[in-house]
Amino acid sequence: LVSRKKKPEDTIVNVKGEKIGDGNPHFIMGPCAVESYEQVKQVAEVIAGKGLTLIRGGAYKPRTSPYDFQGLGLEGLKILRKVADEHQLAVVSEILNPNDIETALDYVDVIQIGARNMQNFDLLRAAGSVNKPVLLKRGLAATIEEFMYAAEYILAQGNSQIILCERGIRTYERATRNTLDISAVPILKKETHLPVVVDVTHSTGRKDLLLPAAKAAMAIGADAVMAEVHPDPAVALSDSAQQMDIPEFHEFMDALLSKEKLK
Ligand code: PEP
Ligand code: MN
Repeated sequence: LVSRKKKPEDTIVNVKGEKIGDGNPHFIMGPCAVESYEQVKQVAEVIAGKGLTLIRGGAYKPRTSPYDFQGLGLEGLKILRKVADEHQLAVVSEILNPNDIETALDYVDVIQIGARNMQNFDLLRAAGSVNKPVLLKRGLAATIEEFMYAAEYILAQGNSQIILCERGIRTYERATRNTLDISAVPILKKETHLPVVVDVTHSTGRKDLLLPAAKAAMAIGADAVMAEVHPDPAVALSDSAQQMDIPEFHEFMDALLSKEKLK
């Protein structure tokens, strides 16, 4: 079902009017984790101010250490929904547990399935059984074929509103947090009919590489770019080193949007 051979035309995932896969670039920006109403509000204001319509933020955080901040859970989803409604934004947020999918329907506009859960088949089936767009991230060590099969699980349950996300894979290279597999973008575009987004934050893990990686993503045919922004990254409860602050967000967006206008 995921194959372009079965469906030659592009799938366009419509998130409250933002048509991902329509040939125009889209941006999914926001904090790594939801920490407070005030924090999300500050980010939402600048996102909306740039004319963007999507906000990301984790309420359920898949952390490597059980002692790290695990997210605000349902409270975090409520904050996201409230702030998004106040700024006419759509919410992209990760769900970790299949049992939370039903609840999430009331709060999120896109269900994110994180890299660590790419092959959580119960979660894939649960997300496939609802009428809500899904942003599926590539696993940390998943081949492109395994990634496509994971999307197939969702499609097989009847949900075809899927956005694929390349977020870097684990290699021997330590200069970046993960290795951005940029060629995965045209391969996924060729093999599947689904839109593809590149997460420049978790792939590079380096603020100095966010802009070049985003330019590369757009040049190679990505439908959207995801990146993290926090009002005060130094005190962020997760991914403190790699989130942009607000001035950096403006620089990043202005560079990408002015490039778009030149086309
Ligand atoms: C995230 O986007 O919040 C996240 C945890 O990313 P990943 O699943 O790609 O590690
Ligand atoms: Mn993060």
